[in-house]
Amino acid sequence: MIDLRSDTVTQPTPEMRQAIAQAPVGDDVLGDDPTVNELEATVAALLGKEAAVYMPSGTMTNQVALRVHTEPGDEIILESQAHIYFYEGGAPAALSGVMCRLIQGTRGIFTAADLQAELRPFNDHYPRTTLVCLENTHNRGGGSIFPLQTIQEIAAVCRDNDLRLHLDGARFWNACVATGLSPAEYAAPFDTVSVCFSKGLGAPVGSALVASQELVQRARRFRKMFGGGMRQAGIIAAGALYAVNHHRDRLADDHANAQRLAHGLQHIDGISINLADVQTNLVYFHTPNTVPATTFAQQLAEQGVGVLPTAANTLRAVTNLMVNQADIDLALETIEQVMGQTRSPSPISPEPTVSRY
Ligand SMILES: *Cc1c(COP(=O)(O)O)cnc(C)c1O
Repeated sequence: MIDLRSDTVTQPTPEMRQAIAQAPVGDDVLGDDPTVNELEATVAALLGKEAAVYMPSGTMTNQVALRVHTEPGDEIILESQAHIYFYEGGAPAALSGVMCRLIQGTRGIFTAADLQAELRPFNDHYPRTTLVCLENTHNRGGGSIFPLQTIQEIAAVCRDNDLRLHLDGARFWNACVATGLSPAEYAAPFDTVSVCFSKGLGAPVGSALVASQELVQRARRFRKMFGGGMRQAGIIAAGALYAVNHHRDRLADDHANAQRLAHGLQHIDGISINLADVQTNLVYFHTPNTVPATTFAQQLAEQGVGVLPTAANTLRAVTNLMVNQADIDLALETIEQVMGQTRSPSPISPEPTVSRY
């Protein structure tokens, strides 16, 4: 299986398993796990912030951040396709009691002027707006990169209006490698940053929230409240620490493979793709109206290529640690073959008609 469904499908490498096996551990809820402590200190230093707190998932990290920054009844501002709004099970309403106000961006990116236009003067009728969340790279935006200057302009609007700024940085490391910006430079405008170890970096479990000492201390309370206090968590933190220290630079390979895949897809009859949209490791492409994405994904899976349908005629392929250049070339061959067969079914043995629900 050439698995391009997500960069979450990665398996720990032998070296990472070695680090996991040898990790010193302790009770992290008591602050005693040396591996968790080293991971948190390493990530905080990388991002130029005072502290970090390790959590089991990116969703928990984002939702703890929302809870840290808001009170029930507050309003938060997000891009309309934000993961926090779209893919986290309604958690902003359920766990923090906040309302989401959405800005329509372009591939997930909006500007300071877009934000300014949403702000209202103080008035008892309005909800209190307290937080703005950005996503870099932007998942449903196609892995798009949020330009640093735009972020700095948004941060200035936030400062002027007493708003906090959070980054959903599940693919922050990809944005750093793609732009050449240091994690500290790119994280500087934010009050809190969520980073992930189990996507492109290839660790089995975990994310971290990175911020000031004061905000991280508050986050630890909500992590506990949400059920994310873990005991000998060094066992999993060791994989994350190994990944941060050894797998960040290799994300450039994923980006090169994504370009190779995108260029190949462009030459396949029946597939459409906008090359300019492919900025990092996510490759979104489209099938003709006559070929539903779910059907095409199913047919590809039968031939050993995993991709995800994300809309009626849109599929997503994500390059990752498990896939090399030769795999990309093989995947392209398979996609071309399956598309060819799908578009010109043999007249002798037509596809049986099957009802699907
Ligand atoms: C995957 C992802 C998350 C959440 O990660 P989980 O660990 O799966 O909960 C958050 N934000 C973005 C943009 C993501 O792609």
